[in-house]
Amino acid sequence: MDFISKLGKDLVSLVYPKQCIGCNSQKGENTNIYCITCNSKIGYTDHFEIKNNELIKRISPRINPQHGAALFEYIKEGLVQKAIHGLKYSGRFDLGNNLGKTFGRSYILSPHFSKADYIIPIPIHNSKRRKRGYNQSYEFAKGIFDVTDIPILEKVLVKKSKTTTQTKKGRTDRFDQVLGSFSLQSPEVLKGMTILIVDDVLTTGATIEAAYTLLNEIENITIQLGLIAIANN
Ligand SMILES: [Zn+2]
Repeated sequence: MDFISKLGKDLVSLVYPKQCIGCNSQKGENTNIYCITCNSKIGYTDHFEIKNNELIKRISPRINPQHGAALFEYIKEGLVQKAIHGLKYSGRFDLGNNLGKTFGRSYILSPHFSKADYIIPIPIHNSKRRKRGYNQSYEFAKGIFDVTDIPILEKVLVKKSKTTTQTKKGRTDRFDQVLGSFSLQSPEVLKGMTILIVDDVLTTGATIEAAYTLLNEIENITIQLGLIAIANN
């Protein structure tokens, strides 16, 4: 191997470590972010196969997407938390892309998802994006795109610049707060379209429900939801 291609490969292995995100063992050329042992312990959901799954039960009757699925159950201190933490706080944007590919493969095979026209990642504040260097939901969306060829649309659902720092308690207040932090730009491009809204973790559901509520105002829109993980409240 010449110097330049060796250097390139070293850089790639720096950016995409061959270590398992769960236990740090060497996982070889395995494309999954987990080694085989960790992967067998992870709580993959049945959301792609089951119509009335846990995610749908959690968000209905407030919102009614065509279908929705989270890849994993999020357990505190668990293996999935390590991946989410790496993605959000340790600069491991590659994890988002990798998990997006995993999501995309199940999405294609799911009898409950029709193929969307666009993927809409949940936006984050510019200040957060600058600090993190990327939007984790966009990285997840890119992985889904890699497998499904569904284009990503970032410009319609946008995050307003920070206006308030007050924190209120309770579902409704949180929902109103998130709803007020989003706005739509040129929403007419989504008329009659099917969209897949994607985010990292569903906890209270306020973010997804606010994004859905805003986008659902668009004429003849069909909305699907995609998440990396769903947390048990
Ligand atoms: Zn492992």
